[in-house]
Amino acid sequence: MRLIIRQSSMKNQDPTGTNLLLGILGNPVSHSLSPNMQQSALDALGIPMRYLHLPVEPDQLSGALDGIRSLPFRGVNVTIPYKQAVMPYLDQLDATAQEANAVNVILNDHGCLIGYNTDSAGFMSGFSHGSDALRRGRVLLVGAGGAACAIVAGLMRRVSAITVVARDISKAETLLDTVGAAQHCQTATLSWPVTPAMIADHGIIVNATPIGMQGFSVDRWLPEHATLTALHTCYDTVYIPQDTPFLVEAKRQGAHCIYGKSMLVGQGEVAFQHFTGQCPPPGLMQTVLDESLSLL
Ligand code: NAP
Repeated sequence: MRLIIRQSSMKNQDPTGTNLLLGILGNPVSHSLSPNMQQSALDALGIPMRYLHLPVEPDQLSGALDGIRSLPFRGVNVTIPYKQAVMPYLDQLDATAQEANAVNVILNDHGCLIGYNTDSAGFMSGFSHGSDALRRGRVLLVGAGGAACAIVAGLMRRVSAITVVARDISKAETLLDTVGAAQHCQTATLSWPVTPAMIADHGIIVNATPIGMQGFSVDRWLPEHATLTALHTCYDTVYIPQDTPFLVEAKRQGAHCIYGKSMLVGQGEVAFQHFTGQCPPPGLMQTVLDESLSLL
Protein backbone atom coordinates (compact mmCIF):
# COMPACT_ATOMS: atom_id res chain seq x y z
CA MET A 1 0.00 0.00 0.00
CA ARG A 2 1.48 3.37 -0.99
CA LEU A 3 1.41 6.64 0.91
CA ILE A 4 -0.05 9.37 -1.23
CA ILE A 5 -0.39 13.14 -1.15
CA ARG A 6 -2.78 14.78 1.34
CA GLN A 7 -5.05 16.63 -1.02
CA SER A 8 -7.69 14.86 -3.06
CA SER A 9 -8.95 16.54 -6.20
CA MET A 10 -11.78 16.38 -8.67
CA LYS A 11 -9.35 16.67 -11.59
CA ASN A 12 -9.88 13.07 -12.64
CA GLN A 13 -13.62 13.12 -12.26
CA ASP A 14 -15.41 12.39 -15.47
CA PRO A 15 -17.19 15.61 -16.52
CA THR A 16 -19.81 13.54 -18.35
CA GLY A 17 -21.14 12.58 -14.95
CA THR A 18 -20.13 9.01 -14.31
CA ASN A 19 -19.29 9.77 -10.66
CA LEU A 20 -22.82 10.36 -9.49
CA LEU A 21 -23.09 8.37 -6.30
CA LEU A 22 -21.91 8.83 -2.73
CA GLY A 23 -22.94 7.00 0.42
CA ILE A 24 -22.22 5.85 3.93
CA LEU A 25 -21.00 2.28 4.35
CA GLY A 26 -21.37 0.61 7.74
CA ASN A 27 -23.57 -1.64 9.84
CA PRO A 28 -25.98 -0.37 10.96
CA VAL A 29 -26.28 2.88 8.99
CA SER A 30 -30.01 3.61 9.05
CA HIS A 31 -29.56 5.97 12.04
CA SER A 32 -26.75 7.96 10.37
CA LEU A 33 -27.29 11.68 9.91
CA SER A 34 -24.50 11.98 7.30
CA PRO A 35 -26.92 11.48 4.36
CA ASN A 36 -29.00 14.50 5.52
CA MET A 37 -25.93 16.71 5.92
CA GLN A 38 -24.17 15.65 2.69
CA GLN A 39 -27.27 15.63 0.45
CA SER A 40 -28.35 19.08 1.65
CA ALA A 41 -24.94 20.51 0.76
CA LEU A 42 -24.95 18.77 -2.66
CA ASP A 43 -28.41 20.12 -3.41
CA ALA A 44 -27.56 23.63 -2.21
CA LEU A 45 -24.60 23.77 -4.61
CA GLY A 46 -26.51 22.12 -7.48
CA ILE A 47 -24.13 19.15 -7.62
CA PRO A 48 -25.99 16.22 -9.27
CA MET A 49 -24.90 13.45 -6.90
CA ARG A 50 -27.04 11.16 -4.73
CA TYR A 51 -25.88 10.21 -1.22
CA LEU A 52 -27.12 6.75 -0.11
CA HIS A 53 -27.30 4.59 3.01
CA LEU A 54 -25.13 1.52 2.30
CA PRO A 55 -25.67 -1.17 4.97
CA VAL A 56 -23.14 -3.96 4.50
CA GLU A 57 -22.85 -7.31 6.27
CA PRO A 58 -19.32 -8.21 7.44
CA ASP A 59 -18.95 -11.12 5.01
CA GLN A 60 -19.93 -8.83 2.13
CA LEU A 61 -17.40 -6.06 2.79
CA SER A 62 -14.94 -7.07 0.08
CA GLY A 63 -17.75 -7.39 -2.48
CA ALA A 64 -19.21 -4.05 -1.44
CA LEU A 65 -15.86 -2.35 -2.01
CA ASP A 66 -15.59 -3.99 -5.44
CA GLY A 67 -19.02 -2.48 -6.10
CA ILE A 68 -17.80 1.00 -5.07
CA ARG A 69 -14.85 0.50 -7.43
CA SER A 70 -16.90 -0.55 -10.44
CA LEU A 71 -20.21 1.29 -10.02
CA PRO A 72 -20.53 5.06 -10.58
CA PHE A 73 -19.42 6.01 -7.08
CA ARG A 74 -17.25 9.07 -6.47
CA GLY A 75 -16.71 7.83 -2.94
CA VAL A 76 -18.17 6.80 0.39
CA ASN A 77 -18.00 7.60 4.07
CA VAL A 78 -17.15 4.63 6.28
CA THR A 79 -18.55 4.18 9.78
CA ILE A 80 -18.73 1.60 12.58
CA PRO A 81 -17.59 -1.19 12.43
CA TYR A 82 -15.50 -0.88 9.25
CA LYS A 83 -13.13 2.07 9.73
CA GLN A 84 -10.17 -0.30 10.09
CA ALA A 85 -11.63 -3.34 8.36
CA VAL A 86 -11.71 -1.58 4.97
CA MET A 87 -8.01 -0.67 5.04
CA PRO A 88 -6.58 -3.91 3.54
CA TYR A 89 -8.93 -3.63 0.54
CA LEU A 90 -7.84 -0.11 -0.46
CA ASP A 91 -5.21 0.72 -3.08
CA GLN A 92 -3.79 3.76 -1.33
CA LEU A 93 -3.95 5.53 2.04
CA ASP A 94 -3.21 9.20 2.48
CA ALA A 95 -1.22 10.52 5.45
CA THR A 96 -4.34 11.24 7.54
CA ALA A 97 -5.52 7.62 7.31
CA GLN A 98 -2.04 6.21 7.95
CA GLU A 99 -1.61 8.34 11.06
CA ALA A 100 -5.05 7.70 12.55
CA ASN A 101 -4.85 4.03 11.51
CA ALA A 102 -8.48 4.28 10.31
CA VAL A 103 -10.40 5.30 7.21
CA ASN A 104 -13.70 7.17 7.25
CA VAL A 105 -13.63 8.45 3.65
CA ILE A 106 -12.89 6.46 0.49
CA LEU A 107 -12.52 8.12 -2.91
CA ASN A 108 -12.93 6.12 -6.11
CA ASP A 109 -10.47 7.49 -8.65
CA HIS A 110 -11.34 5.48 -11.78
CA GLY A 111 -11.28 2.17 -9.93
CA CYS A 112 -8.45 3.11 -7.57
CA LEU A 113 -9.76 3.29 -3.98
CA ILE A 114 -8.00 5.86 -1.79
CA GLY A 115 -8.57 6.04 1.97
CA TYR A 116 -8.62 9.24 4.06
CA ASN A 117 -9.40 10.11 7.66
CA THR A 118 -11.38 13.28 8.35
CA ASP A 119 -12.30 12.44 11.98
CA SER A 120 -9.04 14.01 13.24
CA ALA A 121 -9.72 17.28 11.43
CA GLY A 122 -13.38 17.10 12.50
CA PHE A 123 -12.42 16.70 16.13
CA MET A 124 -9.94 19.60 15.97
CA SER A 125 -12.55 21.85 14.36
CA GLY A 126 -14.37 21.87 17.73
CA PHE A 127 -11.59 24.08 19.14
CA SER A 128 -11.61 27.75 18.21
CA HIS A 129 -8.67 29.12 16.19
CA GLY A 130 -5.54 29.62 18.33
CA SER A 131 -7.37 28.06 21.29
CA ASP A 132 -5.75 28.84 24.65
CA ALA A 133 -6.95 25.47 25.91
CA LEU A 134 -4.77 23.72 23.32
CA ARG A 135 -1.73 25.80 24.27
CA ARG A 136 -2.15 24.90 27.96
CA GLY A 137 -2.76 21.45 26.72
CA ARG A 138 -2.71 18.50 29.10
CA VAL A 139 -5.30 16.09 27.74
CA LEU A 140 -7.09 13.27 29.55
CA LEU A 141 -8.57 11.04 26.85
CA VAL A 142 -11.20 8.58 28.08
CA GLY A 143 -11.38 5.51 25.81
CA ALA A 144 -8.93 3.83 23.43
CA GLY A 145 -10.98 2.83 20.38
CA GLY A 146 -11.10 4.11 16.80
CA ALA A 147 -12.31 7.62 17.63
CA ALA A 148 -9.62 7.96 20.31
CA CYS A 149 -6.97 7.06 17.72
CA ALA A 150 -8.07 9.83 15.35
CA ILE A 151 -8.26 12.26 18.29
CA VAL A 152 -4.68 11.52 19.38
CA ALA A 153 -3.51 12.02 15.78
CA GLY A 154 -5.25 15.40 15.74
CA LEU A 155 -4.03 16.58 19.15
CA MET A 156 -0.49 15.26 19.51
CA ARG A 157 1.33 18.12 17.74
CA ARG A 158 -0.68 20.83 19.49
CA VAL A 159 -0.70 19.90 23.19
CA SER A 160 1.98 19.21 25.78
CA ALA A 161 0.68 15.90 27.14
CA ILE A 162 -1.88 13.18 26.37
CA THR A 163 -2.96 10.62 28.98
CA VAL A 164 -5.22 7.80 27.82
CA VAL A 165 -7.41 6.10 30.42
CA ALA A 166 -9.07 2.85 29.35
CA ARG A 167 -10.47 -0.28 30.92
CA ASP A 168 -7.95 -2.30 28.86
CA ILE A 169 -4.67 -0.47 29.41
CA SER A 170 -2.88 -2.50 26.73
CA LYS A 171 -5.24 -0.96 24.13
CA ALA A 172 -4.30 2.51 25.36
CA GLU A 173 -0.58 1.66 25.05
CA THR A 174 -1.03 0.19 21.56
CA LEU A 175 -3.01 3.23 20.46
CA LEU A 176 -0.27 5.68 21.53
CA ASP A 177 2.41 3.51 19.86
CA THR A 178 0.46 3.10 16.62
CA VAL A 179 -0.07 6.82 16.23
CA GLY A 180 3.51 7.64 17.30
CA ALA A 181 2.27 10.18 19.84
CA ALA A 182 5.40 10.05 22.04
CA GLN A 183 7.42 11.70 19.26
CA HIS A 184 5.30 14.83 19.64
CA CYS A 185 4.19 15.19 23.28
CA GLN A 186 4.36 13.56 26.72
CA THR A 187 2.23 10.41 26.84
CA ALA A 188 0.92 8.19 29.61
CA THR A 189 -1.69 5.51 30.18
CA LEU A 190 -3.85 5.00 33.26
CA SER A 191 -6.15 2.21 34.38
CA TRP A 192 -9.92 2.49 34.63
CA PRO A 193 -11.81 4.05 36.38
CA VAL A 194 -11.33 7.81 35.94
CA THR A 195 -10.53 9.45 39.31
CA PRO A 196 -10.90 13.03 40.64
CA ALA A 197 -7.09 13.29 40.72
CA MET A 198 -6.89 12.55 36.97
CA ILE A 199 -9.45 15.29 36.29
CA ALA A 200 -7.56 17.76 38.49
CA ASP A 201 -4.29 17.01 36.70
CA HIS A 202 -5.54 17.71 33.13
CA GLY A 203 -7.05 20.81 31.52
CA ILE A 204 -8.73 19.14 28.54
CA ILE A 205 -11.01 16.19 29.25
CA VAL A 206 -12.28 14.20 26.25
CA ASN A 207 -14.81 11.37 26.30
CA ALA A 208 -14.20 8.96 23.41
CA THR A 209 -16.33 6.10 24.75
CA PRO A 210 -20.04 5.55 23.99
CA ILE A 211 -20.86 6.20 27.67
CA GLY A 212 -23.58 8.83 27.85
CA MET A 213 -24.96 7.97 24.42
CA GLN A 214 -28.74 7.61 24.21
CA GLY A 215 -29.64 3.94 24.73
CA PHE A 216 -26.21 2.95 26.10
CA SER A 217 -26.57 1.01 29.35
CA VAL A 218 -23.96 2.97 31.36
CA ASP A 219 -24.42 6.74 31.54
CA ARG A 220 -21.58 7.97 33.71
CA TRP A 221 -17.77 7.73 33.77
CA LEU A 222 -17.03 11.08 35.47
CA PRO A 223 -16.38 10.37 39.18
CA GLU A 224 -18.96 11.88 41.53
CA HIS A 225 -16.53 14.07 43.45
CA ALA A 226 -14.54 15.32 40.47
CA THR A 227 -14.04 19.08 40.44
CA LEU A 228 -14.22 20.86 37.11
CA THR A 229 -13.38 24.56 36.86
CA ALA A 230 -13.60 27.37 34.32
CA LEU A 231 -10.05 26.37 33.30
CA HIS A 232 -11.25 22.96 32.09
CA THR A 233 -12.30 22.28 28.51
CA CYS A 234 -14.68 19.31 28.36
CA TYR A 235 -15.28 17.65 24.98
CA ASP A 236 -17.74 14.79 24.51
CA THR A 237 -17.58 12.91 21.18
CA VAL A 238 -21.06 11.52 21.87
CA TYR A 239 -23.64 13.69 20.08
CA ILE A 240 -26.95 11.97 20.89
CA PRO A 241 -28.02 13.49 23.20
CA GLN A 242 -26.21 16.81 22.73
CA ASP A 243 -26.26 17.41 26.50
CA THR A 244 -24.65 14.23 27.76
CA PRO A 245 -24.42 13.65 31.54
CA PHE A 246 -20.71 14.59 31.32
CA LEU A 247 -21.38 17.94 29.62
CA VAL A 248 -24.37 18.73 31.86
CA GLU A 249 -22.09 18.36 34.90
CA ALA A 250 -19.21 20.24 33.21
CA LYS A 251 -21.51 23.15 32.38
CA ARG A 252 -22.93 23.16 35.93
CA GLN A 253 -19.40 23.51 37.32
CA GLY A 254 -18.51 26.32 34.89
CA ALA A 255 -16.19 24.43 32.51
CA HIS A 256 -15.96 25.24 28.79
CA CYS A 257 -17.94 22.61 26.82
CA ILE A 258 -17.46 21.34 23.26
CA TYR A 259 -20.25 19.20 21.81
CA GLY A 260 -19.86 16.00 19.77
CA LYS A 261 -21.83 17.50 16.94
CA SER A 262 -18.88 19.86 16.23
CA MET A 263 -16.79 16.81 15.36
CA LEU A 264 -19.56 15.28 13.24
CA VAL A 265 -20.03 18.46 11.23
CA GLY A 266 -16.27 19.07 10.96
CA GLN A 267 -15.53 15.59 9.57
CA GLY A 268 -18.49 15.90 7.19
CA GLU A 269 -17.34 19.25 5.80
CA VAL A 270 -13.84 17.93 5.06
CA ALA A 271 -15.30 14.74 3.53
CA PHE A 272 -17.52 16.88 1.27
CA GLN A 273 -14.43 18.72 0.01
CA HIS A 274 -12.79 15.39 -0.85
CA PHE A 275 -15.91 14.20 -2.67
CA THR A 276 -16.68 17.37 -4.63
CA GLY A 277 -13.62 19.66 -4.57
CA GLN A 278 -15.90 22.37 -3.12
CA CYS A 279 -16.63 23.68 0.38
CA PRO A 280 -20.18 23.12 1.63
CA PRO A 281 -22.15 26.33 2.22
CA PRO A 282 -20.96 27.73 5.60
CA GLY A 283 -23.16 26.63 8.50
CA LEU A 284 -25.45 24.48 6.36
CA MET A 285 -24.38 21.07 7.69
CA GLN A 286 -24.61 22.40 11.27
CA THR A 287 -28.17 23.66 10.65
CA VAL A 288 -29.25 20.39 9.02
CA LEU A 289 -27.73 18.38 11.86
CA ASP A 290 -29.47 20.53 14.50
CA GLU A 291 -32.79 20.05 12.69
CA SER A 292 -32.26 16.29 12.40
CA LEU A 293 -31.27 15.99 16.08
CA SER A 294 -34.34 17.96 17.18
CA LEU A 295 -36.55 15.36 15.46
CA LEU A 296 -35.04 12.37 17.28
P1 NAP B 1 -14.83 1.84 19.63
O1 NAP B 1 -13.72 1.69 18.66
O2 NAP B 1 -15.78 0.74 19.87
O3 NAP B 1 -14.16 2.30 21.04
C1 NAP B 1 -14.94 2.53 22.18
C2 NAP B 1 -14.05 2.77 23.39
O4 NAP B 1 -14.90 2.96 24.52
C3 NAP B 1 -13.15 1.58 23.74
O5 NAP B 1 -11.98 2.05 24.36
C4 NAP B 1 -14.03 0.82 24.75
O6 NAP B 1 -13.30 -0.01 25.61
C5 NAP B 1 -14.60 1.98 25.52
N1 NAP B 1 -15.81 1.58 26.24
C6 NAP B 1 -16.98 1.16 25.73
N2 NAP B 1 -17.86 0.90 26.71
C7 NAP B 1 -17.22 1.16 27.88
C8 NAP B 1 -17.61 1.07 29.24
N3 NAP B 1 -18.84 0.67 29.61
N4 NAP B 1 -16.70 1.41 30.18
C9 NAP B 1 -15.45 1.81 29.82
N5 NAP B 1 -15.02 1.92 28.53
C10 NAP B 1 -15.91 1.59 27.58
O7 NAP B 1 -15.75 3.09 19.22
P2 NAP B 1 -15.27 4.45 18.54
O8 NAP B 1 -15.38 4.37 17.06
O9 NAP B 1 -13.96 4.84 19.14
O10 NAP B 1 -16.42 5.44 19.02
C11 NAP B 1 -16.54 5.79 20.40
C12 NAP B 1 -17.63 6.84 20.53
O11 NAP B 1 -17.17 8.05 19.90
C13 NAP B 1 -18.93 6.47 19.77
O12 NAP B 1 -19.82 5.85 20.64
C14 NAP B 1 -19.47 7.81 19.31
O13 NAP B 1 -20.40 8.28 20.27
C15 NAP B 1 -18.26 8.72 19.32
N6 NAP B 1 -17.88 9.17 17.98
C16 NAP B 1 -18.29 10.41 17.62
C17 NAP B 1 -17.95 10.91 16.39
C18 NAP B 1 -18.40 12.30 16.03
O14 NAP B 1 -18.25 12.69 14.85
N7 NAP B 1 -18.90 13.06 16.98
C19 NAP B 1 -17.15 10.16 15.50
C20 NAP B 1 -16.75 8.88 15.89
C21 NAP B 1 -17.11 8.39 17.15
P3 NAP B 1 -13.02 -1.56 25.24
O15 NAP B 1 -12.02 -1.54 24.13
O16 NAP B 1 -12.53 -2.13 26.50
O17 NAP B 1 -14.35 -2.13 24.81
